[in-house]
Amino acid sequence: MKKIIVKLKENSYPILISENSLSSLINKLNSQEISKCLIIIDRNVEKYHSSYLRKNFAGLNCKSYKYLFNATELNKNLKQCYNIFKFLSSHYFDRNSSIVSVGGGITGDIAGFTASTFMRGISYYQVPTTLLSMVDSSVGGKTGVNFDNRKNFIGTFYQPKGVFINSMFLDSLPQREVVSGIGEIFKYSFLSDYKNYSRLKKNLESIMNKKEINYKDIIEPCLKIKSNIVSQDEKEIIGLRKILNLGHTFAHAFEVQSNYKLKHGEAVIGGVFCSLFLSEELGYISTDKLREFINDYKFITINKRLKNLDEERIYQSMMSDKKNLSGKIKFVILEDIGKIVVDVLADKLLILNSIKRMKKLV
Ligand code: NAD
Ligand code: ZN
Repeated sequence: MKKIIVKLKENSYPILISENSLSSLINKLNSQEISKCLIIIDRNVEKYHSSYLRKNFAGLNCKSYKYLFNATELNKNLKQCYNIFKFLSSHYFDRNSSIVSVGGGITGDIAGFTASTFMRGISYYQVPTTLLSMVDSSVGGKTGVNFDNRKNFIGTFYQPKGVFINSMFLDSLPQREVVSGIGEIFKYSFLSDYKNYSRLKKNLESIMNKKEINYKDIIEPCLKIKSNIVSQDEKEIIGLRKILNLGHTFAHAFEVQSNYKLKHGEAVIGGVFCSLFLSEELGYISTDKLREFINDYKFITINKRLKNLDEERIYQSMMSDKKNLSGKIKFVILEDIGKIVVDVLADKLLILNSIKRMKKLV
């Protein structure tokens, strides 16, 4: 069992990584004074792992309810929150009740958001079941839903009480979702140092080639980077946390423009490549350095849908992203591995060029 603590002024919490951290979750819940527990489960996870989940959650001392959720980006909305609130209300959940999310990033974001707003906030726990949610979204306390064709437009910062990672959930994950998880790991490789860069790159190559891999070798370094950043800048105030958005200004626009046919991580792959091109267009990295990075990652599959997206529309979508309401688009730019610059403005022409250059890699 590996343990990482997300250290915060208040509400520090553990991340446990093991073959069966669910039993630790049950022990933790049983040690709290919890009146009721709602377990929000991704319907696909229930399909593959129902007996394992039933067996473990049977150990809960408090009354628990199962709530199945269809995890799609189009369902990550306020209507679904309403349904969850309605369920909580009609089953007399109170301030001492708790929510557990068992699913990927979509389930985790919506479960976290409802937990943060129901009765001004009740405790919640994350059990991530996708590679993307294990390396990224289950940690850090960003919750939210999409609104008015904008990604994560409504949301809160609200930390879980614990994150319980069971790598065995990955056994049932479709290959496309594995590639989507690669998107965030690709991002993390640029965020810390050369040692982590080489380590993550090597592991990513093994995943792409479907070689036998030890997922713990990937999950732990990514979460160490993330928890370290979140500990220093929980609510993105000093700006440090913004580096986690590398590639995301592009990625969110790709997702919206593809009408969510692109998965989040697939869009992030395209977005990180665009950020590398933009870093060179703006003169932050040399052309040689850019070539080196592109060459290092030539094994990554870039989704073909990215090729068909219209640059001009992507640009308009970026303009309406929540972080750009001032009318200026801000980017996270790379100067070197572990040397990231945030809030960089760029001319439209350079932005469009970066997208065009990324498309040529597809
Ligand atoms: P997801 O939750 O949609 O899961 C992907 C697909 O895999 C779904 O169809 C789901 O039903 C299925 N699935 C989940 N676990 C499975 C399993 N073990 N076996 C088989 N199928 C399984 O997507 P995701 O990639 O986990 O998360 C993407 C979302 O996370 C996006 O909405 C993104 O905005 C959000 N996100 C949030 C943060 C954050 O900090 N809060 C960070 C990154 C991404
Ligand atoms: Zn992301």
